[in-house]
Amino acid sequence: MNDKGINDMAKVVREEITDYCEDQFKTLFTEYWETRAAQQASTEHAGFICDSCNADPITGIHYKCSVCADYDLCQECERKGVHADHPMLKVRKPEQCPARLVCQYGNLQEAEKAAFAQMAMPQAQA
Ligand SMILES: [Zn+2]
Ligand SMILES: [Zn+2]
Repeated sequence: MNDKGINDMAKVVREEITDYCEDQFKTLFTEYWETRAAQQASTEHAGFICDSCNADPITGIHYKCSVCADYDLCQECERKGVHADHPMLKVRKPEQCPARLVCQYGNLQEAEKAAFAQMAMPQAQA
């Protein structure tokens, strides 16, 4: 085989390998995202009820209000903009949910600060 023949063959092989790798990558990537999305959609957050639609337990992504002492939303209600005045914590896995959240706005008055301290660390004040 002459040089041109070898070059042509190398070109065909390279194209075949590139196509194969692209297909494989797309398949694996799609599978990965579909699996991940399905896992997230079926994740149950036991003990948490949506304060808007009463879904019990919250399934999918659990949104926890970072200001209210006890306010939780499911992903559908969060998407609709329910309780949009407060920043929400996005909890994907139940084990990542904090037992207690303390959010302190920077513009609190002195009386509010004291109330906040009491709420944040009740045992320290007792
Ligand atoms: Zn809901
Ligand atoms: Zn809130």
